[in-house]
Amino acid sequence: MIDFTFTEEQELFRQAAREFAETQIAPRIPEMEETGRVNAEVVKALGEAEMMAITIPQEYGGLGLGYVARLIALEEISRVSVATAMMLQVLGLGIEPIIKFGTEEQKKKYLPGLAAGERLATIAVTEPTGGSDPTGGRTSYQKDGDDYVINGRKCFITNSHIADTIIVLAKDEEDPDAFSTFVVEGGMEGFKPGHREHKVGLRGCNTGELIFENCRVRGENLLGAEGQGLRVAMTGISEVGRGGMVGCGLGLQAACLEASVKFAQERILYGKPISRLQTIQNKLAEMKIDLDAGRLLGYRAAARQDQGLRSSNEFAVAKHFTTEAAQKAAKMAVDIHGGYGCLEEYAVTRYWRDAAVLGPSAGTSDIMKVIIARWVLS
Ligand SMILES: Cc1cc2nc3c(=O)[nH]c(=O)nc-3n(C[C@H](O)[C@H](O)[C@H](O)COP(=O)(O)OP(=O)(O)OC[C@H]3O[C@@H](n4cnc5c(N)ncnc54)[C@H](O)[C@@H]3O)c2cc1C
Repeated sequence: MIDFTFTEEQELFRQAAREFAETQIAPRIPEMEETGRVNAEVVKALGEAEMMAITIPQEYGGLGLGYVARLIALEEISRVSVATAMMLQVLGLGIEPIIKFGTEEQKKKYLPGLAAGERLATIAVTEPTGGSDPTGGRTSYQKDGDDYVINGRKCFITNSHIADTIIVLAKDEEDPDAFSTFVVEGGMEGFKPGHREHKVGLRGCNTGELIFENCRVRGENLLGAEGQGLRVAMTGISEVGRGGMVGCGLGLQAACLEASVKFAQERILYGKPISRLQTIQNKLAEMKIDLDAGRLLGYRAAARQDQGLRSSNEFAVAKHFTTEAAQKAAKMAVDIHGGYGCLEEYAVTRYWRDAAVLGPSAGTSDIMKVIIARWVLS
């Protein structure tokens, strides 16, 4: 039997996440939009609400609720603020490699602080010479006694200027085919954030450069076995990273539909609400079809993940579908608003700008198709 219902606990969790987003995040959106900066109060509230603890096992100070719960939280937060959901999703993405590949010492050292929001995580893979092709990156490490010395630059890194626990992918200077991952901590000598990007959307979620100049890390900061770095980084990105983007996409789809229904019922033309026009109804129906389909795809993948089954292919399908559907929904929502869809006081303009940024994160739609084609051809 396939059970498509959420448990009572999951429903309560969804309600709590919705209330959290509406009361703790929504009031801070105007400031986030105005400054483009991360709102410290939002980060604090996420920590206090244990939003960073969802997937961390209880023995390390987490909630141990798993990935369906994570998707519920991200969807609800994204419905209110895609920028905040994106920040939270990458906090989780930075945590995942420590859960999956960390030694007992590393888990004890990092996870309790990450669960409490006292530490903030990210993952740094992308470079100017390697986005879709992570092996094109040039950031390198050299072994020096028990230490490793890292040199290079990362770009497009979410949480670049707020994270203090950074999972960094680098290649061996002696063997450019061998990659390893390291935990670099804020304040380490030779490490600093660089340029801050100004994105068209997701304002309030920080994206930028990270610079490593002879950054020396101890052997105990190597995460996973030496030479296994691509596996460590890509395991996190292919499941938790893409799963997080599904949460961002679903929440944005839901927000577009809700705003469109409200506007269509209030806007009077020809003496009646435009919701009576079939063209408008068709758009609303399309948004609902895509939202339901996206939810089925996303929660299917997350349920597999909770069962310990491989879910990267299912997440590739869900990531492609939901981020494309979010862009489509945002365009339709703006269209339904007519001229009002150009005015910033209407949230749909923010949804449209946010939707444009969802595509490339955690792999473009083209790359999702490459993965899906490999799956069906295998
Ligand atoms: C908001 C945001 C947040 C991000 N956060 C992070 C982060 O925290 N950490 C991190 O490491 N990275 C992060 N990224 C980087 C993201 O993973 C890359 O942008 C993405 O992988 C694409 O790489 P690229 O931008 O270099 O594009 P490119 O790889 O240069 O792609 C250019 C074009 O070529 C296409 N293309 C490339 N290869 C293929 C192929 N094999 N087949 C068909 N088409 C192809 C692409 O689809 C795209 O249309 C973030 C990006 C954004 C926009």
